[in-house]
Amino acid sequence: MGNEAKSKSSLPVPGGCVSWWQQTTRSFPYLSHNENETVPKSSKYVVIGSGIAGGLTTFQLIENGVPAEDIVILEARDAASGASSRNAGHVRPDAFRGFQVYEKVHGRDQALKIIANERLVFEKVDEFVKKHGVPCDFNPATTFDVCMTKEFADFNARSLKLYADAGGDISHVKFYEGEDAKKRTGVRQAVTAYEWPAGSSHPAKLAQWLLTQSIEKGTGFFTHCPATSVVKSASSTADKTLWDVVTPRGTVTAATVVHCTNAFAPHLLPQLSSFVTPNRAQAHAIIPPPSLSGTKIMPSTMSLRHELRHFYSVAQRKADGIIILGAPIASPNVSEAAYEARFTSDDSTFNEEIQKDAWGNFQACFPDLREEKLRHGEGLQGTWTGIVAMTPDSVPFVGPVDGLPGQWICAGFNGHGMARIFTCAPGVAKLILGGAWEDTGLPECFEMTSERLVKLERGTVGSVFEPPQLKP
Ligand SMILES: Cc1cc2nc3c(=O)[nH]c(=O)nc-3n(C[C@H](O)[C@H](O)[C@H](O)COP(=O)(O)OP(=O)(O)OC[C@H]3O[C@@H](n4cnc5c(N)ncnc54)[C@H](O)[C@@H]3O)c2cc1C
Repeated sequence: MGNEAKSKSSLPVPGGCVSWWQQTTRSFPYLSHNENETVPKSSKYVVIGSGIAGGLTTFQLIENGVPAEDIVILEARDAASGASSRNAGHVRPDAFRGFQVYEKVHGRDQALKIIANERLVFEKVDEFVKKHGVPCDFNPATTFDVCMTKEFADFNARSLKLYADAGGDISHVKFYEGEDAKKRTGVRQAVTAYEWPAGSSHPAKLAQWLLTQSIEKGTGFFTHCPATSVVKSASSTADKTLWDVVTPRGTVTAATVVHCTNAFAPHLLPQLSSFVTPNRAQAHAIIPPPSLSGTKIMPSTMSLRHELRHFYSVAQRKADGIIILGAPIASPNVSEAAYEARFTSDDSTFNEEIQKDAWGNFQACFPDLREEKLRHGEGLQGTWTGIVAMTPDSVPFVGPVDGLPGQWICAGFNGHGMARIFTCAPGVAKLILGGAWEDTGLPECFEMTSERLVKLERGTVGSVFEPPQLKP
């Protein structure tokens, strides 16, 4: 099935399931902020979407001089109730693996920039959290790519070589094989392993902190208030285009509209219908047994990789020892039907086959988690889903929306936003305030140019990513 056929342009469904991140932040005071209020008739800026992209774009606009009260944020459901409060918690830059695929799609120069940008994001998150004292359990550590098969070990070795030969910096990547790989990772099936700096965080706490800063400075925040359309306002003049952002609780007219709607972007921007595909991803929370508790918690996060699309992400939280397990995009152990069930924007439920596969694989890697060894209260605690936004060329859409002056986008994070938003959102804020693309420091291939859309339309890119890959 092609991306076009899979794409379902919709609003977030009401009644999404409650992730572990959401379960542990129920007292957030702005969770349902202004849920019954009508929206103001006008605002200079309207940001649509209150995930990390919307929250950080707003934060950056204010940091750069925009009065907080000139901004309104609209959110279709609870505060930050999209992927930002449903992910696997990894802030895990791709150190080299994706290079060979990015090079085929975007060329060597852009591929090098994409990988370098991910490393920069990790540094930016670290810097931001420390500078502002953000209480989001951010844990800068290292991560392992654990190659579980000879085939994947060969793939990763090739990726590393290609990246290094192209001039990519691998000085921060450590390599282990055989017994050393098993010992370092604690995974007895490990063939080889690579280790580099990465971190994990409580993504809902991060998103909520960002929103709080803006709300408490005066930004208007309206939850349960979906933008249902954005149309040219009758109050536009020859010199200035204004936009009517229509919601069930009134219409707010703005000169600047920022789409931070990720997988739901095509609902308001139908020109993206073929290029932003909602894809349901699943994650699990696990209560560890004593052998993975106390001083024995895993110091590094990891990705247990069997094939390019068959992998499981693992992050044990330093704050409380809870293990967050991300499910694979595709596993030979799940049926075609379970795989196809991913192509939805409905996050109200999860898939039991995918749960069984992810949990079973994890138990095989860490035998102390086998059912017969667990006490009541240990083991699988919860399962949830969220919707990620896949693009055919595996990079986000950032910048001005062509042909719609005053509309901007920061979306399409390919299941990898925690490793991208912290450069993309500041980038889009700079552009909105008059900066040039060069000022953003972002890879040029992230820009939402009409040339890029034409290329995607012609299908000249994207086949290597069919179906698109999700990276932890
Ligand atoms: C199970 C899972 C595991 C993941 N694991 C990782 C990981 O470990 N590392 C990583 O880097 N990334 C991961 N991701 C991806 C990451 O969560 C996303 O890339 C990131 O959160 C995107 O942030 P965002 O703000 O762009 O989108 P979102 O957080 O989805 O925010 C978009 C918001 O817009 C709102 N919205 C949409 N349309 C409208 C509208 N018309 N009107 C009003 N509001 C609207 C939505 O309700 C939503 O709150 C994972 C995602 C999932 C689901």
